[in-house]
Amino acid sequence: MAETFRAILISRDDDKKQSVDVVELTPDDLMDGDVDVKVAATTVNYKDGLAITGKSPVVRRWPMIPGVDLAGTVVRSDNARWKPGDEVVLNGWGVGETHYGAYAGLSRLKGEWLVALPERFSARDAMAIGTAGYTAMLSVLALEAAGLSPKDGPAVVTGASGGVGSFAIALLAKRGWEVLAVTGRTAEADYLKALGASEIVDRAELSDPGKPLSKERWIAGIDAVGSHTLANVLAATRYGGAVAACGLAQGMELPSSVAPFILRGVSLLGIDSVMASLERREAAWRRLSEDLDQSVLDQIATDIGFDDLIGAARDIIDGKIRGRIVAKMT
Ligand code: NDP
Repeated sequence: MAETFRAILISRDDDKKQSVDVVELTPDDLMDGDVDVKVAATTVNYKDGLAITGKSPVVRRWPMIPGVDLAGTVVRSDNARWKPGDEVVLNGWGVGETHYGAYAGLSRLKGEWLVALPERFSARDAMAIGTAGYTAMLSVLALEAAGLSPKDGPAVVTGASGGVGSFAIALLAKRGWEVLAVTGRTAEADYLKALGASEIVDRAELSDPGKPLSKERWIAGIDAVGSHTLANVLAATRYGGAVAACGLAQGMELPSSVAPFILRGVSLLGIDSVMASLERREAAWRRLSEDLDQSVLDQIATDIGFDDLIGAARDIIDGKIRGRIVAKMT
């Protein structure tokens, strides 16, 4: 009899009403791919919360196993890059959206989507990082590629106590940046300062419609929030600065003007983690393994089990998750 494994499955009925169930599957139920990975750990991203609650149209093929991040061990490979026993990480590529995702004991994937798990990280560490940490790293690399460094001035991070925000603070602080952390959870000030924030800014200061230009406060920014917050971050960016835009926790819209760009030479840097090239992924994971202290991972991560995944996905949408959730699957 074929081995079975548990998976979370999102389905939709004829009236497009969504349901989420735990099901038992066999390898024959999986979608096409040339590498099978036994999933050791996964995590809950904001996007996974959107998929499970159905709040935004993340899922584009039905039914779907959600989960955009996984770490695990190759158990079958028809791909020359991988062999059984290799430890790998997967972030994005439409997994959990159009291709069966991480919330399952076994995942069948394309070999070219996989990155070797850096030696210093366990599967749990890699999932504490997950898409959030890897996106924060892509954002830091984009600011550096724009020519900015800590000597130019402070950096601002929005959505600070979320996954991307927590890693953005730690990664910037590690390289010597003074970091202003923008949060709605000012009670988390100690957590944010322990990660490396120098100053806590109440997000209410930035979340309402503001002026096209305001007092110059920072030279660099990593924004996980979008909407008025990003517009206000741009308006307060110093001459020649840059802001990496990677999220939309407040909203998708950008109610801004061209003033910061044409009057202060500010740049807006777009960050996409889902379809980023293998080269950029490997560069980001290399820098993560150089720059992240184990103590930071332990501060950011909260451990749960497979049975807690659906509840945690709902909690992240309700803004109840601090840092990152790691679910061990074995
Ligand atoms: P989290 O939910 O962990 O963090 C989001 C944070 O944003 C919250 O913790 C909160 O921070 C803040 N926030 C939430 N709602 C609002 C609001 N209405 N107004 C202002 N701030 C708000 O999510 P992630 O860190 O995993 O992801 C952050 C964003 O980045 C998401 O929009 C996600 O979709 C996007 N993303 C994009 C990627 C890409 O490839 N571009 C990759 C990964 C994520 P606080 O409580 O501190 O205020």
